[in-house]
Amino acid sequence: MSPIYESAAIKLDGVDRDAPAYLNGVALLDILLDPYDLLDRLNEIEAAHGRDRGPDAERWGDRTLDLDLIDVDGIELDDERLTLPHPRAWQRAFVLQPWLDVDPDARLTGRGRVADLRSAATDAVVRR
Ligand code: AMP
Repeated sequence: MSPIYESAAIKLDGVDRDAPAYLNGVALLDILLDPYDLLDRLNEIEAAHGRDRGPDAERWGDRTLDLDLIDVDGIELDDERLTLPHPRAWQRAFVLQPWLDVDPDARLTGRGRVADLRSAATDAVVRR
């Protein structure tokens, strides 16, 4: 498990400094589940923490817990339930920086070295 980094909320139209900030971390997992079963487990954990995914939930709205799959063994897929690798991870310092902390040699499938992606990312993160 990585250290935790704080970042400003990003909404559909950009950074929202009036919204509560987020605490972000990356976990490296050894799993036997396939990605869809793992996503089901993540959704259950989110629900147990009060996450509202109802029809009225705002897309990219404030939320108590958001668990995403970033890269699962280099699998590439894109369907209505799951996109792998996560489509925005490559440009988000709040993903790349904690990932780099736990794996300095990490590579993101299709995008290259996480260290290089981290250097190019422009969003601000503060280590807690
Ligand atoms: P979010 O609001 O970011 O939690 O995303 C909502 C939905 O995105 C989830 O219910 C998933 O079905 C879908 N999704 C697609 N790709 C991913 C991914 N790589 N990790 C997590 N959720 C994903």
